[in-house]
Amino acid sequence: MAKVVVVGGGAAGLVAAWRAASRGHAVLLLEANGRLGVKLRISGGGKCNITHDGPPKALMAAFSKEQARFLRPSLHAFDNRAVLDLLRREGVETYVRDNGRVFPLDRPGSAGAVVSAFETLVRRAGVEVRTGARVTGLEGEFPRLSALRVGEERLAADAFILATGGASYPETGTRGEALGWLKGLKAPVRPWFPALAPIPLARPRGTWEGVALREGELRLSAGPEGRRLAVFAGDILFTKVGISGPAALELSQATERARREGAAWLVYASSLAAPERVDAALIEEARANPRLLAATWLQRHLPERLVDPLLQEAAVDRGLMLKDLSRAARRELVGLVTALPLGGPQPVPLARGEVAAGGVELAAVDPHNMALRGWENLRVCGELLDLDGPVGGYNLQAAFSTGFAAGTL
Ligand SMILES: Cc1cc2nc3c(=O)[nH]c(=O)nc-3n(C[C@H](O)[C@H](O)[C@H](O)COP(=O)(O)OP(=O)(O)OC[C@H]3O[C@@H](n4cnc5c(N)ncnc54)[C@H](O)[C@@H]3O)c2cc1C
Repeated sequence: MAKVVVVGGGAAGLVAAWRAASRGHAVLLLEANGRLGVKLRISGGGKCNITHDGPPKALMAAFSKEQARFLRPSLHAFDNRAVLDLLRREGVETYVRDNGRVFPLDRPGSAGAVVSAFETLVRRAGVEVRTGARVTGLEGEFPRLSALRVGEERLAADAFILATGGASYPETGTRGEALGWLKGLKAPVRPWFPALAPIPLARPRGTWEGVALREGELRLSAGPEGRRLAVFAGDILFTKVGISGPAALELSQATERARREGAAWLVYASSLAAPERVDAALIEEARANPRLLAATWLQRHLPERLVDPLLQEAAVDRGLMLKDLSRAARRELVGLVTALPLGGPQPVPLARGEVAAGGVELAAVDPHNMALRGWENLRVCGELLDLDGPVGGYNLQAAFSTGFAAGTL
């Protein structure tokens, strides 16, 4: 029996602590917050999208190639069914939505029920839980860690599992400082980088706040005339300072990267048809229905609230009938529908991401047990690793699976 300290009482740390204690180790779980699982409690808007439905192969396919390869052993050892079985045994029933996302049955505070289930598991397994304990540093000489510090206190142990999460939503306890400790141990780390965050725009449309563009795709290019860098099919939602919604979150990391490289430009295509086809359809419509207003035509493709301001920007008279459209005005209308310019982004905020990209480089970690390569008694798991999946339950599953592997000692 070894004395094991787990740092971080979130998704990965709870599973790691439960697993290690279930295998007979004496486990101390340290959590900086006054209670466990604070980020879990706000996940999925308080409903907690626990995982995604499907076989491990399909789950892995949602991650980048490198991340999928890394996740393979831990995901097979503790997959989505294993997580859901465990929760079911603790009384948390779940259901799968049409889009494959798995949630606890809808009840107020359902994310809290997930945390309570893990808390029960951890305590029943005999884990000693200390909340309000923020770890401030590590002590040891390569290849062994000897202790960690909680303020003035020094806590020695045989093995250490770091599960301190990422660096977004710092108010949930995740400030990302563990990356600095690991850098101090010469572990290869990638700096934190924003992901799954809303995108502020250089020219925000504050008056459009709350308007959604649906069923089209958000496109990112290297400048207004630059090459296409990325695209995501899905909705966007205008906010006071920019855009949010599924497509904005998914493209936020690529947008920030392009911005830092000097050229990023966003457009939203409400119609996925080629501009020539939309143009041809508009000409056809003008023939069939010459007295139809340009505004009415535009309203078929874009939300009503945007029609007047967009016509104004495009210098197209609101009362103009299709029969009177000039070629230039027609082009403008087609452009609004096939590539509504949103323009350049402002810096994407790391703090508002559902996940933080960056973390401990995967090549430096053994994917079977999450041991930091070269070190004898140090393991890392969860979002502290350089793992970032899309929205849909993938990030929690990655935390659960890597936590399980780390706790298997
Ligand atoms: C708003 C929001 C909604 C989300 N919704 C979903 C969702 O529905 N589905 C999904 O799959 N993913 C979701 N995510 C992402 C998911 O919550 C994270 O990827 C996941 O929680 C990571 O698990 P973790 O255990 O690595 O980190 P966390 O769950 O963040 O846990 C880390 C813990 O470590 C503690 N800690 C940090 N530093 C120290 C220290 N120095 N000493 C002691 N303790 C420390 C923190 O207080 C924290 O409790 C969401 C994220 C956010 C922000």
